Amino acid sequence: MHAFRDVETAAYCPRKLYYRRQTAQEDPPDRVERRRELAFRYERLLADRAALRAAPIAVTPTQFRSRLGAAKARLGAWDGLVDPDGREVFLSGRECRGVAHKLLEDDPTVSLVFTGEPPDQGVWHPQSVRLVAAAKALAWERETPVERAFAEYPAHGVIREVELTTRRRAAYREAVRTAGAIDGPPARVDNDAKCAACEFSDQCGVRTRSLRSLLGGD
Ligand code: SF4
Repeated sequence: MHAFRDVETAAYCPRKLYYRRQTAQEDPPDRVERRRELAFRYERLLADRAALRAAPIAVTPTQFRSRLGAAKARLGAWDGLVDPDGREVFLSGRECRGVAHKLLEDDPTVSLVFTGEPPDQGVWHPQSVRLVAAAKALAWERETPVERAFAEYPAHGVIREVELTTRRRAAYREAVRTAGAIDGPPARVDNDAKCAACEFSDQCGVRTRSLRSLLGGD
């Protein structure tokens, strides 16, 4: 049984998952908690300019209101996202378990809150894997199909509905297989952007390798 977070990490970089398993987990920093909390204050943030000015958002108040206002108009599940039936709900499926930040009972589905920046469209690949893991866990518990999930980027005022397409489900299965097969340090990913954002880059040795490359020693 894998944690939702582990299959997400496996999709990002199997080696990163290997390091994470060797490391004691710390609680998320306050900054992360404060951003996540924004996802439970949407109506207040839309209505109260002072509250929005004081909130830890990553875009201008105008951008935030515009984006969130558009989501409110577009999403039929808005009421459920604003006032979810469950919050921080632990789900256990056939292969994965973990916490769904929001649970919506009407046409049951889950929403996960991400504190980083969204891509221009859709969701980042590892986050898609985590969303499928959470949705499949709910489907397993309820014995009912779950065909969509929501990804929220509250600091950016962005909410996206994500369909559980065949491609997304296949990526999830691949990540489950990868997470289950790790028994030693896997190969590094060849992706500078991923490594630059990885908290294990020192341990992994990518900075050393990059420096050597710059000096012509690699
Ligand atoms: S630094 Fe790069 S290769 Fe190493 S674990 Fe992190 S993402 Fe993977």
